[in-house]
Amino acid sequence: MKYELKNGWTTDIDKEIVCKFSEGYKSFLDIAKTEREAVSEIVRLAESCGFKPLSDYTTLKEGDKVYAINKLKGIILAVIGEKEASEGVNIVGAHIDAPRLDLKPNPLYEDGELAYFKTHYYGGIKKYQWTALPLALHGVVIKTNGETVNVKIGDEGDDITFVITDLLPHLAREQMKKPATEIIEGESLNLLIGSIPADEEEKDAVKTNILSILNEKYGICEEDFLSAELEIVPSANAKDVGFDRGLIGAYGHDDRVCAYPALMAILTTDACEKTAVCLLTDKEEVGSMGNTGARSDFLKLILMEIMDKTGEGATELNLLRALDKSYCLSADVSAAFDPNFPAPYEKRNAGKTNYGITVAKYTGAGGKSGSSDASAELMAKIRTLFNNNNILWHVAELGKVDAGGGGTIAQYVANLGVETVDCGVSVLSMHAPYEVVSKLDVYMTYKAFHSFFGENI
Ligand code: MN
Ligand code: MN
Repeated sequence: MKYELKNGWTTDIDKEIVCKFSEGYKSFLDIAKTEREAVSEIVRLAESCGFKPLSDYTTLKEGDKVYAINKLKGIILAVIGEKEASEGVNIVGAHIDAPRLDLKPNPLYEDGELAYFKTHYYGGIKKYQWTALPLALHGVVIKTNGETVNVKIGDEGDDITFVITDLLPHLAREQMKKPATEIIEGESLNLLIGSIPADEEEKDAVKTNILSILNEKYGICEEDFLSAELEIVPSANAKDVGFDRGLIGAYGHDDRVCAYPALMAILTTDACEKTAVCLLTDKEEVGSMGNTGARSDFLKLILMEIMDKTGEGATELNLLRALDKSYCLSADVSAAFDPNFPAPYEKRNAGKTNYGITVAKYTGAGGKSGSSDASAELMAKIRTLFNNNNILWHVAELGKVDAGGGGTIAQYVANLGVETVDCGVSVLSMHAPYEVVSKLDVYMTYKAFHSFFGENI
């Protein structure tokens, strides 16, 4: 009669398998700190499992494994099912962008004989968390001749690093009186990148020196920053947290902690009744807009390509039927109950570390605004699916009513007619430069997605 939950480590779970899965996840986190890096690593992993570009196929049949890249920042992978797509597909959707600092178009300047990059933060961050910690610079510079210069500086062994300085406590009397949102202002997030002046005695000699280093090492000039996407991310790599190694600390768990299990789930799906679709999108942290976000038509395009190549006909009617009959696990993180900060959580409905995948019937803020509220019928199907496959799971709301809130890609997928529910891994210190998740929850999320792809729910 009573509904009771169990800490996953106290069940008969195979700890070795759980820990082995998290080793692969940790490597992925270190290699894929940006959405572009995630896409290229996903392609590498997918090809090693027999996936091929969708464009390589003129016709598709059951069991074919394909991927399609969306402008280098998003990707869809699919395993063609027994049934036609217009009978519905099973989608797991996650995002591969993460909160960070982007360089401004004109970033480079000198002040007080030190050189800096100006930044503009991306996504919801506590700005004060980004000072006084080692930072790395990742991204691309596209030159006028079309050449791409790949940049990845600051993560490896004795590589250089960068930092945003903070005021010493001795002189911070005024700063410490400010609200946390103003302790570090957006325009103070300036990255320290150099200190040695060029030999010539001229104005901005430190900046001049940096420009000649950039020119020598990367062949770029100051104007090249105008056509670049350079992201500042924490240098720190993923590590086990705690004496018992049960947790993983890393930058960007949100949402790679769902994207990686979703990827692994589709890579290990061989036969499926319904076509399995892994949708990995960009721009979730800023509203899912643009041609690489979940609000774009990319999913529709790829479904139509599949319907065209399987011969069922890429008509608008078929597309709408496919979407109307499809299911989607909108895979994104939830907030893990934090005993250090109990106040904004409602314990009965909070995410719990080590209790498996979380399912959120709705997200949103201020009375479920911006949410896709999964139906009771869908919740029943998910319960059945997870219970039948020994998936440890529990429900999670983001926090107390009116404590805050947030959204995911769920509403944009649901707007297409797809039966959609939010689920994922609960995270400690979400959106901080170093977030924490449970190895058990990561593995359980993979198992959940794998069972979803394998079944006709
Ligand atoms: Mn997220
Ligand atoms: Mn987020």
